[in-house]
Amino acid sequence: MPSLRTIRITVASIFLSASVAYLFFETGSVPAVQISERVQIIPSALAVSIGATAFWLVATFFFGRIYCSLVCPVGIIQDSATWLRRRLSRIPMLRKRRNPLDGRPLFAPFRYRKAGKWRGLILLFYVVCLLLGFTGIAALFEPWNIMRLASESVHPAPTTTPTRGLLFASNLLLGAVIGFEILIIIWIWALVAGRKFCTEVCPIGTVLGHVTERGIWQIEFDPDRCVGCLRCEEICKSECIKVVSRYVNNSKCVRCFDCIRVCDDDAIRFTPSRHRPATPLLRRKAGT
Ligand code: SF4
Ligand code: SF4
Ligand code: SF4
Repeated sequence: MPSLRTIRITVASIFLSASVAYLFFETGSVPAVQISERVQIIPSALAVSIGATAFWLVATFFFGRIYCSLVCPVGIIQDSATWLRRRLSRIPMLRKRRNPLDGRPLFAPFRYRKAGKWRGLILLFYVVCLLLGFTGIAALFEPWNIMRLASESVHPAPTTTPTRGLLFASNLLLGAVIGFEILIIIWIWALVAGRKFCTEVCPIGTVLGHVTERGIWQIEFDPDRCVGCLRCEEICKSECIKVVSRYVNNSKCVRCFDCIRVCDDDAIRFTPSRHRPATPLLRRKAGT
């Protein structure tokens, strides 16, 4: 039977291909390709057809941020950067390179980090922009709109008005300068630091993270089996695994299932959660 990770990579590849075909190659009339937009959270919410939004909130409550691992094109594009990062980290010359910002090796294995304190404020800013009608600013944070902006540099939105030429040029500029630049910045950030955009910035990720926290199926340790080898923590692109405490911050987890693949001891699993700390000492500290 294929592993969860294989299934997720297959489904994500299909959705990414459909999204690129829909946005960049004007194949919007093909029903199979149209699905790539209909399943997106914000386009569905803005179209006041809350079907997809409600579906993903329920799915997230049961399984966590599978939206981030299966259908969000920006999330899947970031995965290509972390895949490349893993390969670059094996090149001896690059392994010694240091990040000028924090002095750590540029392609060092990932380590656990607490959830960013800014993500709540960014979500608030995003909601306020939407409520005040500043949708252009809100769009700069929202993954599907980032993709749409980038695609407009390839085929600007058609119009029949006399200002077609002007609109064509402005869309081209907007898409090329803003859309692609944001996409490239997010990709480079992922190459250096993993899914930081998803865990620190993206307002949709923040909302889904809060739902996941209280959800049913979680990534959890089996402390009796774990030998503390750190392999799961080092591969986690969301930096949400803390082996020393046998703790996974599921609100940051994007359900890539890489941690499960690297664990030879079957000590970290995707399982219905008991919502309590993994070890007796931590349970005593938490008073549970
Ligand atoms: S956090 Fe945002 S950008 Fe990242 S995968 Fe989820 S929806 Fe996409
Ligand atoms: S890879 Fe498995 S054994 Fe190693 S630290 Fe993670 S859960 Fe424990
Ligand atoms: S905890 Fe596991 S499934 Fe979640 S993001 Fe980290 S590696 Fe992926």
